[in-house]
Amino acid sequence: MSKILNEVLLANRDYVAGFDKADLAMPPARQFAILTCMDARLDPAKYAGLSEGDAHVVRNAGGRASDDAIRSLVISYKLLGTKEWFVIHHTDCGMETFSNEIMTDLCASSLETASVDASGWHDHGAGPGSTEAKYINWLTIKNQAESVLEDVNRIKAHPLVPANIPVYGYVYDVKSGSLIEVPEATAAGRAS
Ligand SMILES: [Zn+2]
Repeated sequence: MSKILNEVLLANRDYVAGFDKADLAMPPARQFAILTCMDARLDPAKYAGLSEGDAHVVRNAGGRASDDAIRSLVISYKLLGTKEWFVIHHTDCGMETFSNEIMTDLCASSLETASVDASGWHDHGAGPGSTEAKYINWLTIKNQAESVLEDVNRIKAHPLVPANIPVYGYVYDVKSGSLIEVPEATAAGRAS
């Protein structure tokens, strides 16, 4: 068995031993949702004080308001009653380190893990790669405050998002753990 698989299953056994969450309702008790990055350094349960059952957390690369993230947010309010949403990107996000063109070139070179240094990304894998990456918008980030604002605007402009849901825009600082408001984004996300 893989080391990781074994570790995860052992950790789950411990979790089950102390499990006391069987009576939680499906709708989030605190009626809010967070859209944030999948970065391993971010733990929304810790940085936002969540317990099981409290809130929806939608995660993807960058915490971007992709069509699929919006799909989740619409389900979150329409079927499960959330009333306030956060978009939380973060400092030192990997999505700042490449572009659609770079990803397309890396994947075309090989399907192995690339490496990065001061001069950028490099692919050393044995090919063949795939040209399919060019069909995906990787939703990379140039500036965190701008990406938060862009995503709050995209969510608020969506025809399935009601105007009375406020969307708060924040950047999580990976060096301090603090949430820093993007005031333009929160203003754009105001409920009306
Ligand atoms: Zn990230």
